[in-house]
Amino acid sequence: MLINVATLLQEPIGHARQYFADGEAVSVPEEGYEQTITGPIRVIRSDRGVLVTASFDLDPVELECSRCLETYLQPVHIEFDEEYVAYRDPLTGLRPEADEDEFRIDQRWHLDLSEAVRQYEQSALPIQPVCRPDCRGLCPTCGQHLNEATCGCTAAVTSDKWSPLSGLAERLQLEERHGSPEA
Ligand SMILES: [Zn+2]
Ligand SMILES: [Zn+2]
Repeated sequence: MLINVATLLQEPIGHARQYFADGEAVSVPEEGYEQTITGPIRVIRSDRGVLVTASFDLDPVELECSRCLETYLQPVHIEFDEEYVAYRDPLTGLRPEADEDEFRIDQRWHLDLSEAVRQYEQSALPIQPVCRPDCRGLCPTCGQHLNEATCGCTAAVTSDKWSPLSGLAERLQLEERHGSPEA
């Protein structure tokens, strides 16, 4: 998706345009990256170019669950504010100063949000992906997929987990046998 900002760049600072991306394609071929974006885009004339405010739902990304190792589709939402520096000012012909890592408007006044979407998607993805909040993962002992079935080992793990409670039950039984002082 490309937005032509030639006209906006000839307007005073602060002038704005509102767009809506409706499943538009973005891509960064060098990175083998393709996505679709859905959501509002606000573009405001800044002194060096335009300020972009975007809020996008992306296509879900296929990830591997860190607990059960199954692949699943992770929904992705990103939001960003970024300045895109003009290659050249259309009125003065001057080239605004820009750092190497800043986003640029290309020489034909096209605004391409693909690289920003790629970068923000990367930071939006979970470091430890989980297919669902209650994923039980794999049994560390026998490797059984615990979302599908329980294994013999889980009983041992479970009773360990509840040992403070089973200790309490033993104490209560003991009290019953000896009779509590109040009884
Ligand atoms: Zn899982
Ligand atoms: Zn097991």
